[in-house]
Parts: sequence; C-alpha cells; structure tokens
Amino acid sequence: MTRLLQRVGLAVCLALPVAGAADAAEHPWVASFWPKAAEAGVPEAIFRRAFADFTPDPDILRSSANQAEFVKPLWAYLASAVSADRIETGTALAARYRTQLAKIEATYGVERTVLVAIWGIETSFGTDVGDTSSGKNVIRSLATIAAAGGSRVAFAEEQLIAALKIVERGDVALNALTGSWAGAMGQPQFIPTTYQDYAVDFDGDGRRDIWKSPVDSLASMANFLRARGWQSGAGWGYEVVLPAGFDHRLADSEVVKPVSDWAALGVKRPKGVALPRPDEQAAVLLPTGARGPAFLIFANFRVIKRYNNSDTYALAVSALADRIRGLPAISGSWPLNELPLNSTERSELQRLLAGRGLYAGPIDGKLGRLSDAGLRTFQASIGLAPDGYASQILLQKLRAATN
Ligand code: CA
Repeated sequence: MTRLLQRVGLAVCLALPVAGAADAAEHPWVASFWPKAAEAGVPEAIFRRAFADFTPDPDILRSSANQAEFVKPLWAYLASAVSADRIETGTALAARYRTQLAKIEATYGVERTVLVAIWGIETSFGTDVGDTSSGKNVIRSLATIAAAGGSRVAFAEEQLIAALKIVERGDVALNALTGSWAGAMGQPQFIPTTYQDYAVDFDGDGRRDIWKSPVDSLASMANFLRARGWQSGAGWGYEVVLPAGFDHRLADSEVVKPVSDWAALGVKRPKGVALPRPDEQAAVLLPTGARGPAFLIFANFRVIKRYNNSDTYALAVSALADRIRGLPAISGSWPLNELPLNSTERSELQRLLAGRGLYAGPIDGKLGRLSDAGLRTFQASIGLAPDGYASQILLQKLRAATN
C-alpha cells in the first residue's frame, strides 16, 4: 500500500468513530481498533464487513478465564499423544501422501515423519479442526479477547490485522477463517501472523489452504520449520542410557557437546550400540529427572520447540515421528511416583529456595535457569542427584528441610 493510500486510510479512520457513535449497536472496541487497522493497511470495506455485527463470544471469555491448570505427568501426556491409534493412522497417512511428502521433503529438507507427527498432535491429522472447540470464527474470537481488555489486547489486535490481510489476499473467505478460541487455525494450528509468514500453496490451486488441504498444511509446517533452522537429515536426537556416576549437572540444555564427547563420558544407546552421528552437537535431556528416560537432543529438537515451546511437546512429536518411521518406543521406565508440580507448587518451590538463599528471581511459578540452578544446589546438598527435576517428592524434601 502506498503512503498516499495510508493517509487516505487515516483520514477515514478519523471519521469512523463518529459514524460508530451514531450506531448504538456498534461495540466501542471496534471504533477504537479501526485507526490501528487502517494504519496497518487493512481496507475499510473488509474491516466493516468483519465487524459489522460484532458481539463478544461468551464462550471465549469462559475458556480464557478457565484455564485451570491440570498438570499431567509427561508419561500420561505421551501415552495419549503417541497412542497406538495415532501411530497407526500416522503410518497410513505417511503412505497415502508418500509422493507429496517426498516432494515437500525435497523442497524444504524437513523429515516427513516429523511433519506427519506435528499434524497428528496438533489436530489428529486435520480431523480435529471443525468441532466446537477449534471451529470458531477467528476474527470474532480474537476480537472478543481484544475487546475484553487486559494483557492480551496487543497480541489479539496484531493477530486480527494479520487475519484481515489474509482475507484481503483472497486465501480464505471471512466466514471460513476458523480456528481455536486463541486464534490457532487449520490443520497446522497456525496463528494468523504465522500463516502470513509461512503458509504456502503446495497443491497448486493458487490458495494457501491450511483448513482443507493436507498437502498445503504439511508444506506450510515444513516451511515454518526450515525458516526456524531445521537441519536437513540430522533428526531430533535419540534415547540414551547414562552411566552410573554420571554428573547430572551436565543434563542441561545449555551444556552442548559433540556426541563423541558424550560417548567418552560413558553415554550409550539403550541396547549398548555405539552412538549414531558422533559429530552432532547434543545436550542431555532428562525430562523427568535422573530416574526417568534420558535423551541426547540435537539442534532440531529446539526447532520443534519453536512450534510450541515445551520439552514435553517436542518429545511427543519426536517420539511419534520415530514410531511412524518404524523405530522402537522409548524404552526407559518413567518414575511414576515422582509427579510434577502445578503452578502454585512451583511458586512455593521458588519461595523455599529463595528462603535458603538459592534463588533470587521472581516468584512466578515459572521455573527457568535460576530456579533450576538453585534446585540442583539444594539436591546436591542433601545427597540427591542434581538433575533439577521439580517433583512433588522434591518439594516435600524442601519443605522438610525448611521446617
Ligand atoms: Ca492450495
């Protein structure tokens, strides 16, 4: 859009609140949002069509308020994310789309099984995009969040501007722009800005259709992962077994060494075979601490986390991708009595560590590097493996040590 047209847009925006005020039915947020949308280049006709009858969606306000935290242990999450059904369906779909996936892999360099795994975990391979939870109109959902005020307004308005531009570009009609209440759309669950930057038309019909086209969806995910630094052919990593006497302080995403160095420290594959890809840079991941399964993770594991910033998510994608490739399941056993902490308990953990002079960060229930370091110091001080795993058992020990 040219500078001149932007100016015209701004002139129109000055007039709009008056028109809005004349219309008693218009939501005040709509008038307040128009100048920003106009400045960002959203055409007035599309804006008016999008918000003509806007009313906040009461379901969204409920979903947004009721994000009660249920902390599922990793093993329970993996059992449903990497279920036998999902492995079977993923394997069948990888076969059905063999030709298209080969072309996508050749174009973007991202392993096809990882794409199929993300597809499976995000929307059960595109089957879970039309129900009541994810089949809402994204414009109304995001506008509801923006109109409600609070900390998510800037996010919602940025996403709305992107969504309106998607409509302007002609990829999808206004009423077909559906997604989750938080704005995640279509089979890959892209928010509008991600769609704008990474969605591609790969089936050649001229439209970037992540709602109906599995091929567009898979290629769009591949395009996103490649842009985030996916290393072709390197894989995500693999399960390992740590030797007795391993220094658990080394199990830290920031401690990165070549696989050959880990081998020299006694790290092995579950069946004792030599570690593949000796030159790859890797970190040790202990997602449930010293008594659970161990993994060597490569740079691509971090790339998967760019899709959804959680080790749990990335591990589920990785494990499902492996199973679809015909590789074995995770063989280590999970520490079923070491349950994870919820947000309130994580805050308590931070307070207790702070009380012992082991933590100086915010008490926010978000366990970052500072709390991890404090936790490991506490573990070592009472003779436990310093793995940084914040379990219920550990919180009890910290309470006991404090009283
Ligand atoms: Ca297409």
